[in-house]
Amino acid sequence: MADARVLLGRPVANQITDSVLERCNAFEFKYKRKPRLGVVTIDNPASQSYLKTINSTGRKTGCEVIEIPLGSDASPADMTGIISPLNDDPNIDGILVQTPLPKGVTADQIGNAVNRMKDIDGITPYQAGLLFKGSKSALVPPTARAVMDILGFYRIGIQSQEVIIVGRSLIVGKPLGILMLGMNATVTCCHSRTLSLSTICKRAAVLVTAIGKPNFIDSDYVRPGAIVIDVGINVDEQGTLLGDVDMQSIDSIAAAYTPVPGGVGPVTSACLFANLLDAAEARMKSG
Ligand code: NAP
Repeated sequence: MADARVLLGRPVANQITDSVLERCNAFEFKYKRKPRLGVVTIDNPASQSYLKTINSTGRKTGCEVIEIPLGSDASPADMTGIISPLNDDPNIDGILVQTPLPKGVTADQIGNAVNRMKDIDGITPYQAGLLFKGSKSALVPPTARAVMDILGFYRIGIQSQEVIIVGRSLIVGKPLGILMLGMNATVTCCHSRTLSLSTICKRAAVLVTAIGKPNFIDSDYVRPGAIVIDVGINVDEQGTLLGDVDMQSIDSIAAAYTPVPGGVGPVTSACLFANLLDAAEARMKSG
């Protein structure tokens, strides 16, 4: 097989941010204010790097971003003290709490604390429930939305195809599995206890990896002609960003793959702002 096609994230992200900018202008014209995102920030290199991307996407889309720093020793009560005013502020349209959370604060606590109408990360039981039911109004975790948008942009059809997702987190693997089922793919979701992982992955027409293990997926896991979507973001000792997929190893086997960096990452940040507009418009319409 010839060298695989590289599915770049930037053109997908640009198309999404252009559309968010248009919606943002219409929102401002109608409601005399810009959509505003509140980010509870964590002092951690990966979180700070994502924050930079969020601020730059905010500028591109015309949305406002405010930052509320959270101490690494914050308690669940401190967390509630930060989230409650954001929930109540009529000018805040979306809330994002960065990870890793301080010790003693759980993802469940955040999911229960955030106003469900401002849950642009799709972590509240309400939004997860809407997604599960297949509702079009669900606020879907941005990374899962990003993978679907990449497939859509590059016209990769998944109907009746066998899709294997490696990873079952609440923000990537599980929501993606639900979305793909909704598109009539045949979906298998693998995890750390899956037996014969490489054999299962080799069945995939579309293989999605979200495990957080650098270069873990190589030619042994990829069927000739497969599409490989690498969600993983890993940083090695030199500070280099690596995906879960060993790109060199699969280059002559896969039909196409998303690179790291430059694949799913930029699209995720654009999808966060698409969610912000969805949340802002829905809340203003519901009064
Ligand atoms: P997570 O919550 O740690 O989940 C990792 C998943 O991978 C778990 O389901 C785990 O299985 C599974 N796993 C771990 N080791 C495995 C192995 N050896 N074989 C099979 N499955 C294995 O991580 P996450 O938040 O979903 O993130 C996953 C990766 O995506 C990370 O690298 C993260 O940085 C990246 N990410 C990227 C973006 C983006 O925009 N590109 C956004 C979010 C996350 P168990 O459930 O059995 O533990």
